[in-house]
Amino acid sequence: MKVLVVDPLKCAGGKSCELACSYYRTGKFNIADSRIKVHFFPEDLSFVPTLCMQCKEAYCVQVCPTGALERDASTGVVTLDQDTCIGCKQCIVACPWGSVKLSSDGETVMKCDNCGGDPACVKVCDSGALAYVEIDDAVSHKQRDTADKYAEIARQMSRGGEAHV
Ligand code: SF4
Repeated sequence: MKVLVVDPLKCAGGKSCELACSYYRTGKFNIADSRIKVHFFPEDLSFVPTLCMQCKEAYCVQVCPTGALERDASTGVVTLDQDTCIGCKQCIVACPWGSVKLSSDGETVMKCDNCGGDPACVKVCDSGALAYVEIDDAVSHKQRDTADKYAEIARQMSRGGEAHV
């Protein structure tokens, strides 16, 4: 099973992911219609992309009165059927990530579904902040990153200095 992984430390804030998402979904470049959102924190000039986490405990699915939202058992992705959606917006209220939202014209509920298995945002992210990988690989990368940090701390301490990572 593949997952869309975000590494905020690598995000350069170019927002090409937002443009790619809106174009893939609507045929237009309008970041207001993007399912992924890059947040800017001016205090430390950092950027953090957020998008649907395809939660295992998916509140959006639980509150949807029509069954428009459901999980694809084979991919684990929560999909939204526009034909069944009645626009009640309960899923928008229920999403803890703020990742279910209204389109810019206020007419359509939007959420990320990993573009059906080939996420447009990942393809244009040059900085490597977005990746679409097998879940085991995602875990291995995180373990490796953590090990790197521990190793760096150990190296700094062995040199008698204060540890900074
Ligand atoms: S807005 Fe649509 S998808 Fe969301 S809870 Fe209502 S019917 Fe379901």
